[in-house]
Amino acid sequence: MTADNERIEILGVPVDLIDRERALEKFEKLFPEPGVTKIFTPNSEIVQNASKDEKLKKLFGSADIILPDGIGLVYASRIVGHPLRERVTGIDFLESCIAYLEKNGKSIYFFGSKPGVAEKAAANIKKKYPDLVVAGCHHGYFKPEDEPEIVRQINESGADFLCVALGAPKQEQFIYSHEDELSVSAAIGVGGSLDVWSGDLKRAPEFYQKHGLEWLYRFIQQPSRFGRMMKLPVFMLKVIAQGKTPGGKRP
Ligand code: UDP
Repeated sequence: MTADNERIEILGVPVDLIDRERALEKFEKLFPEPGVTKIFTPNSEIVQNASKDEKLKKLFGSADIILPDGIGLVYASRIVGHPLRERVTGIDFLESCIAYLEKNGKSIYFFGSKPGVAEKAAANIKKKYPDLVVAGCHHGYFKPEDEPEIVRQINESGADFLCVALGAPKQEQFIYSHEDELSVSAAIGVGGSLDVWSGDLKRAPEFYQKHGLEWLYRFIQQPSRFGRMMKLPVFMLKVIAQGKTPGGKRP
C-alpha cells in the first residue's frame, strides 16, 4: 500500500489502511498545517455501534486519521479483502504523538477521565517525557452546558495538542462539534488511556498484547465489561455476513 490515504470500510464505517509508522508520518505532515488534525481510534465495538448510525459514520469519516485500534478490526479487514498489517492502538499512538510534541517543544492538554486522573497521568507521562509541556488538565464529567467553558480553558492554555478521554463516541463528538472553535493543531480520542497512564488501570502484559488478547486481560480486570465484550463475536459474524466488499473506499 503506497497511497497516503487508503481508507477501507468495515460495516460501512471508514478505517485507515495504515500501520503505526505511516500513521505517525501522516500526523507529522498534517500537524503543522492549519486547522485541527483529527485522530480517531475506533475498535470493533465502536465500529459496530457506528455501523447503525449514519451520523456517527459521517463523524468518523471526517477524521484525518482513523486508526484501527483492536485485533477485531485486523481480522475484519482480512475478511473484507483489504488486510491491515497491524492494529494501531490509541494509547500507543498517543505516546508516539507525545514523543513528537516533546521533541518539537509543543504542548498538550489532557481532557477526560475521572477527576484527578488526567493530572496523575500527566505526572507519570512527564517522568518518561520530562521536557513535555503540559498546558492543562480537565476531568471528563461535565454537563453539556459546560462545554463552551471547557473549550475556552483549552484555548486559553495555548495547548498545541488535545488528548480527549471521554470514551467513544463522546470524545469524537466533542472534537467534531468544537473543531471550529478549538485553537489546537491536533486532537485525538483515546478512550481509557489516561486511566492506564495514571496507574488506575493496568495495561495487558506484552504476552496478551502480542497475541491479540488484550480484550481478555481487560475483561479479567473489569468483568463488568462482559456485555460489551460479547459484541466482538457478533461483530465478526456481521463482517462475515457482509462478505467481501468489492474494492476499498478511497476518500
Ligand atoms: N469518561 C469520561 N466522561 C464520561 C464517561 C467516561 O471522562 O462521561 C472517561 C472514563 O472515566 C474513562 C474513559 O472515559 O477514563 C472511557 O474509557 P473506556 O475504556 O470506556 O473507553 P472506550 O473503551 O470507549 O475507548
